[in-house]
Amino acid sequence: MKKFFTPVDLRSRAAMMSFLTGHFRYWTMNPWNQSSSYAYNLKVDHLGLSADLVDKLLDMLETDVFQAAMQSLREQFGEDHNHSWQVGMNGRSGGYLVLYQGYAKPSGYKSYCCLCGQRNYKSTEESGNVCGRCGKPTRIDYDTPPLQIGVYPGRGTDDGEDFEDWSMNRLRDRVRLVQELDRLADAMVATALDYARNYSVEDEEYLVPRTRKILVATA
Ligand SMILES: [Zn+2]
Repeated sequence: MKKFFTPVDLRSRAAMMSFLTGHFRYWTMNPWNQSSSYAYNLKVDHLGLSADLVDKLLDMLETDVFQAAMQSLREQFGEDHNHSWQVGMNGRSGGYLVLYQGYAKPSGYKSYCCLCGQRNYKSTEESGNVCGRCGKPTRIDYDTPPLQIGVYPGRGTDDGEDFEDWSMNRLRDRVRLVQELDRLADAMVATALDYARNYSVEDEEYLVPRTRKILVATA
């Protein structure tokens, strides 16, 4: 199995520069956008796993529970960096883990409806507690107003950078950040293998309600 974390000597300028310039990179948007960032190829057939395990993981990727587990690992990375650094999956089949620059700013919402979830830019003190959508008196103020979180998809990181004029401290910070990406890649693979060990994937049939027009005789 492939391991992504590699130790780097943080006292050596040359070691840090070679780690950063030699790291695998991928596009943050599309090849023609020409912005790239630190990345990993996490396609299941690139992880050095047996053919059986690859097949099983391909099936698992289609389940909601597995996708949610992977997403929560990625979201934790963003939270750990106040969302100024985030990770996302990119590529035609979403097989590349890519480091993104992002932001978190106040969303401006002050209250919400506990019944239907509708959010409101006014507090209950300003406009009462009746919900504008469902009409029930169930609006309450947020204790902590929610953030609006986003990424700058077109912004690459260290594109064409040679790091020559970077201070040792700045180099160390960047190496540590990229090593966290490495650890995240390892954690995602370890979690995936955990699921593969403990679960099997089965087909479940379900019925989807649909609407059609019918004729009803008038009385
Ligand atoms: Zn409501």
